[in-house]
Amino acid sequence: MTYTKQILRVNLTAGTCVAEPLNQEWADQYLGQRGLATKYLAAEIDPKVDPLSPDNKLIFATGPLTGTPTSTGGRYSVITKGPLTGAIACSNSGGYFGAELKFAGWDLVIFEGRSPRPVYLLLEDDQATLLDAAHLWGKTVWETEETIKQTHQDPQMRVSSIGRAGENGVLFAAIVNDLHRAAGRSGVGAVMGAKNLKAFAVRGTRTDSYTVAEPEAFFKAVAAAKTVLAGNGVTGQGLPSFGTQVLMNVINEVGGLPTRNGREVQFEGARAISAEAMHELRPTDGKPNLINHNGCFGCTIACGRISKMDPGHFSIKDKPQYQAASGGLEYEAAWALGAAAGVNDLEALTYVNFLCNEDGIDPITLGTTIGAAMELYQLGLITKEEAGLELPFGSAQALVKLAELTVAGEGFGQVIALGSKRLCAKYGRPELSMSVKGLEFPAYDGRAFQGMALEYATSNRGACHVRGYMISPEVLGIPVKLDPAATEGKAAMLKAFQDLTAVVDSAGICLFTTFAWGAEDIRSQLEPAIGGSWPMERMLAAGERIWNLERNFNLAAGFTAKDDTLPPRMLTEAANAGPQKGNVAELGKMMPDYYQVRGWTPEGVPTAETEARLGL
Ligand code: SF4
Repeated sequence: MTYTKQILRVNLTAGTCVAEPLNQEWADQYLGQRGLATKYLAAEIDPKVDPLSPDNKLIFATGPLTGTPTSTGGRYSVITKGPLTGAIACSNSGGYFGAELKFAGWDLVIFEGRSPRPVYLLLEDDQATLLDAAHLWGKTVWETEETIKQTHQDPQMRVSSIGRAGENGVLFAAIVNDLHRAAGRSGVGAVMGAKNLKAFAVRGTRTDSYTVAEPEAFFKAVAAAKTVLAGNGVTGQGLPSFGTQVLMNVINEVGGLPTRNGREVQFEGARAISAEAMHELRPTDGKPNLINHNGCFGCTIACGRISKMDPGHFSIKDKPQYQAASGGLEYEAAWALGAAAGVNDLEALTYVNFLCNEDGIDPITLGTTIGAAMELYQLGLITKEEAGLELPFGSAQALVKLAELTVAGEGFGQVIALGSKRLCAKYGRPELSMSVKGLEFPAYDGRAFQGMALEYATSNRGACHVRGYMISPEVLGIPVKLDPAATEGKAAMLKAFQDLTAVVDSAGICLFTTFAWGAEDIRSQLEPAIGGSWPMERMLAAGERIWNLERNFNLAAGFTAKDDTLPPRMLTEAANAGPQKGNVAELGKMMPDYYQVRGWTPEGVPTAETEARLGL
């Protein structure tokens, strides 16, 4: 089976690293990665714990398909209690780190306690060592990764680390691996920083770290599934050519692009920050922003963007380190740093995205928090004197300056570092935070897509698009076309999406495969990889079990049905333009259905029957 069957427990307080066998019974129920690590976390911490205290734990987890030849099988997740939200946090990343961790022989690595001084973990196959990181503290992700590789004379070492944002306690700090792949959301990087853990370096050379249970059936299924990806218009053409940025013009045209802190649903500058614009030659230097695309470990889609900025742009004129090619822009970052703040300067967005990768910060929360600050500034609640600069919507200069201040932990950046919920509460207008459970929603407006509205309201880690991507049926017609304005039937469809996504995130593959793969394409690879009998009902029940496990963690942490809602703006201020003009998010019509199809009480609590059915 494709588990390594061992986990590593790193006690940062005591400075010890101890191997222990994987709890296979839990793996059988929760698959791996997101599900399995959440099971360990829920069993080992008090859900009410302060996320930044030593009592919280931070788990790096691979799935049963991580490191296998399955397309996109290089994913890993970081699971903890999130400091931005106080809810369960699970952030998923690609690149090559996850596969390397599997090749070193580990399903999970659990960090607990807090080191008395900055350290990094060096994990070379079964040799785990905590090393002094005093010389790395204060360095960026990019510097840290390079320094560690040079120190150990191993360019093939994979490094996952925090930048200055994680050290400075930015509540939406990310953990970045392979220079520009990030476990980005919910502030997992802040937890890493609070533990004085600067980096996690891994080198795996074992050829026997796992075995495939039924190789012939597995490789046959993998080959068939890769053919499906190659033949699909989205995964075979759209994503490789245009990346996720292909969505910018599409979502804008259907009137679902939240603009200027969600006050509008279409952005007049969308085209200037779109995939198409990234391909075009710049008038300033005659070169395009986009220079290449790339993929994560084992990926046959390769949606990643590689960009090179105009060296004469105001943001990097005197900064040669940003004049080389680097990762980005992806759609969510381009939207958050662009439309959410009303900024249409593609080069400025590219630079700020570089900063987010370089210093480990979530661009979605950064951009949306800056958008909220701009609205507070426009209302006269934040002054120029307080911010240290003018903050009008649309100002690329303000976006760049605030991003620099935030990653450095300086000036008004210390306020942006709190995220939009705390920022808006500080200025007496909590309703202006476009967030759910403290996590800012991404690039789809809930007034235009009723299914996405319900997804934001119910997602266990706060407003999130990658827990049940209802844009697939509501815009792209995958697997069937649903009317985005309809509310009927959305609850059942969302539940199915959420449960299957929990399987995907726990298996070790990328969610983007589901533009082409149905549940059977995943099951047909998972079963011969793990071994044993995995009929569809068992696989989907695992997804539902994981969803309910996360729900129970949040309930125990203090969340209630009252938190399953949206910002008042989404519920009461109608969409101002586009095909969905006049609509608001109709949560009241969908939430009772949702609780019912989930087998929860009207108060949003899993019933005893549901818990018994799922073996919780
Ligand atoms: S589809 Fe994109 S994000 Fe997913 S594994 Fe491939 S390159 Fe990485």
